[in-house]
Amino acid sequence: MRILVIEDERKIAEFIRRGLKEEGYSVDVAYDGEQGYRLARINEYDLIILDLMLPGLNGLEICRQLRQDKLTVPILILTVKDSVQDKVTGLDSGANDYLTKPFAFEELLARCRALLRGYGVSEPTRLRVADLELDLLTRRVTRAGQEISLTQKENSLLEYLMRNAGRVVTRTMIAEHVWDMNFDSFTNVIEVYINRLRNKIDRGFNRPLIHTIRGRGYILKE
Ligand code: CA
Repeated sequence: MRILVIEDERKIAEFIRRGLKEEGYSVDVAYDGEQGYRLARINEYDLIILDLMLPGLNGLEICRQLRQDKLTVPILILTVKDSVQDKVTGLDSGANDYLTKPFAFEELLARCRALLRGYGVSEPTRLRVADLELDLLTRRVTRAGQEISLTQKENSLLEYLMRNAGRVVTRTMIAEHVWDMNFDSFTNVIEVYINRLRNKIDRGFNRPLIHTIRGRGYILKE
């Protein structure tokens, strides 16, 4: 899952970025409103965390503009502005949620999870494809009840494949949702990770779940 953080206070931005990365999200940060708006238009994010007081475009303007552009990406406003009127204005401008600073990182995470849940998931905290399971809260992965140990990146990649189970995902889609802006699309890093994941998920089982669709990408299915 790829998240855009639009926040001009570098310390806060870095705090959020690091915390989200530790949870396995890929994170891009924009330090001013215009850059934030531009990134939101260019890249396909699963969630945007948006400060309100920003140089350039302010948060409300970004929010309204993105909704006018027909972007449906969930937006979480994160701001020091804590009056009822501010919250009403924020939500009315198209934001999905509103959290005031100072905030507990755990609460921010819980709200992110709640907003991301809308993303094609049938069950809120657990993904399941055949006998493969991923618990989104503990990040624990099992196949046929057997625990499988994955690195954080492998875990994120598996989550993306599982959320799109039964659909072909291209390398570009994977790069956009599992890696961040600094990803070098000319390397074969995705193939490398898919192979590692295959070794852990499919090896030793009769029916493989990860399939290569030649010239197109990958599909996770029974
Ligand atoms: Ca600010």
